[in-house]
Amino acid sequence: GARVIDGRALAEELKLRVISEVEELAAGGVRPGLATVFVGEDYAARAYERRVRKLAGELGCRYTCERLPEEAEEADVLAVVGKLNADPRVSGILVLRPLPERVSEPAVYRMLDPLKDIEAVHPVNAGLLALGRPRYVPSTPAACFYLLDRYLKLSGRDPEEYYRSSTVVVVGRSNNVGKPAVSLGFARGATVISCDVNTYRAGRLREQTVRADVLIVAAGVAGLIDESYVREGVIAVDVGINPVADPEGGGRTILVGDLDFQSVARKAEALTPVPGGVGPITDVWLLKNTAAAARWSSSRFPGRRWLPVAAPAISG
Ligand code: NAD
Repeated sequence: GARVIDGRALAEELKLRVISEVEELAAGGVRPGLATVFVGEDYAARAYERRVRKLAGELGCRYTCERLPEEAEEADVLAVVGKLNADPRVSGILVLRPLPERVSEPAVYRMLDPLKDIEAVHPVNAGLLALGRPRYVPSTPAACFYLLDRYLKLSGRDPEEYYRSSTVVVVGRSNNVGKPAVSLGFARGATVISCDVNTYRAGRLREQTVRADVLIVAAGVAGLIDESYVREGVIAVDVGINPVADPEGGGRTILVGDLDFQSVARKAEALTPVPGGVGPITDVWLLKNTAAAARWSSSRFPGRRWLPVAAPAISG
């Protein structure tokens, strides 16, 4: 049967690395601080905000959430970002999505201090990532490749060699998940195919996804991918988080991924569950980037201040 990749266990392992990083910083008198900007009342954003708040506490990081009402103007959001940019206690800033219509996402992202932009949404950081020289690797695509790299190692393969001879297919092309995932596939030397909703509407999604040795799905469509979309032995990573009515009844809402899990499991070598796959690693990665930001912005840890980190070496 297919191996189910345990994202929670991998997240615990990664957490230990972040804890020791935070301890090292503390010994040098530096405490990482994460700030989130939360505009409006989105349910998923609120759940995410609560998770990172809790995790920041667990990991010994400072945390603050700047909340703005749904009616906030762009200028209000820019002012909050400016304030956080100037606050030395804040090492990393996460702008939660969605923003209201009248607030331009690119304008807010351009306002971020690039050194505090831990999700690499500022054009400079997005550009560095696209060039294969990321300063920060954004947390969701980073989580996908973290678990892939770890899985490949645990299954006895050399990840570097594996990627160079493999095809990675990414379904979904958003700026925060799909596109950076493509860049991370490039950085590993894989053959990469990017599909989006146009591929699907043209009736040509399946012909691409069946070519995948590694399939990363981030479309936000419950059960989009069933076994007819994959080849025997695929390694499938499910990024999607979709609320659906519980089929067991009771009027409850449950979260499912973009994979039809049972169906894909019949053909896959390995796959990630939802929940308990990509999500938990994403959260820890955000704090890992916060700790890195704290280190680079401190004069007590000199050397790498203005330099982007090296291309994401195969992790783990
Ligand atoms: P998005 O809506 O910004 O982008 C979706 C992308 O998928 C677009 O490029 C779109 O063209 C494509 N798409 C839509 N329908 C498609 C179809 N039928 N076939 C092929 N492509 C299709 O979404 P996003 O922010 O990239 O998030 C995607 C999913 O991942 C959502 O379910 C979201 O909740 C989830 N998500 C999870 C995490 C995590 O940590 N696990 C983080 C961020 C987002």
